[in-house]
Amino acid sequence: MTIYNLGSINIDHVYRLTALPRAGETLHSHALSLGMGGKGSNQSIAAAKAGGEVVHLGAMGTGDAWVLERLAQAGVQTDRIARLAEQPTGHAIILVDDAAENCIVIHGGANVALPPELVSRDMAGIGPDDILLMQNETNQQVEAAAHARANGARVIYSAAPFQIDALRAVLPHVSVLAVNEGEAREAFAALGQDLPIDGLLITRGAEGAEYRDLIRGTTHRQAAFRVTPKDTTGAGDCFAGWFAAGLARGEDAPTALRHAAAAAALQVTREGAGDAMPDRDEVMAFLK
Ligand code: ADP
Repeated sequence: MTIYNLGSINIDHVYRLTALPRAGETLHSHALSLGMGGKGSNQSIAAAKAGGEVVHLGAMGTGDAWVLERLAQAGVQTDRIARLAEQPTGHAIILVDDAAENCIVIHGGANVALPPELVSRDMAGIGPDDILLMQNETNQQVEAAAHARANGARVIYSAAPFQIDALRAVLPHVSVLAVNEGEAREAFAALGQDLPIDGLLITRGAEGAEYRDLIRGTTHRQAAFRVTPKDTTGAGDCFAGWFAAGLARGEDAPTALRHAAAAAALQVTREGAGDAMPDRDEVMAFLK
């Protein structure tokens, strides 16, 4: 079973400053670090480290080879990532001051300029044993989801960043919806609890997670593992990637939930997002 992940690839540029600039002000930063971000690449890394066979679908600019190397090192197949000459790789400019206040500017770039042949070219071969994983940081979501379902694949959609119009458009093609507590509240307020999908994954931070099997009418709950968190950025992506990999290997919901919760517990004890995803050996050792 292959997981095709249609997702964003972002480079996070983190600038440290004594204070955040005001309008019209020019300041010098005293430190710069680059890291992997973007919900798409985070989830690809998580699912590949969980042992999944992951093909990342998406786009970047023509430079930034280190990003492809980082994905490949995690075990992600990168050969179907489009390289666009006329767009930069998606990136976030993150300013952090001494009080840990931040300001963030995201430029979607190539992530939101996916060419229409994505569906016909890059999704070639998707079939009933496969999963299409998606988040809300690229264009072409509805087209890709419809194509995956027409070919019998399951579609797992992580509705983040949450936009009700995007969810409404893609929902008819979704098998499993993955949301955090806030996103679940917004989705229920707009669409009601009776969603036309097979399964609903809700994560609740340190409170854990639940999976509602809407076909069988059962709910499986998983407590969060107790850890001392250092940086919770990317916890939801870690959980979604591991859960998707679990379903792809044929695990039942309780097993996939338990592994995903252990992986996310380890992830929040480390700095970073994509760079903090644990691998299978680490998760199994944690669960012993
Ligand atoms: P998101 O990052 O999308 O807001 P959540 O905050 O719901 O997602 O976190 C996703 C999962 O990560 C949780 O269901 C839980 O398993 C794990 N997690 C998050 N925060 C903690 C924490 N403080 N301690 C242990 N596990 C956590």
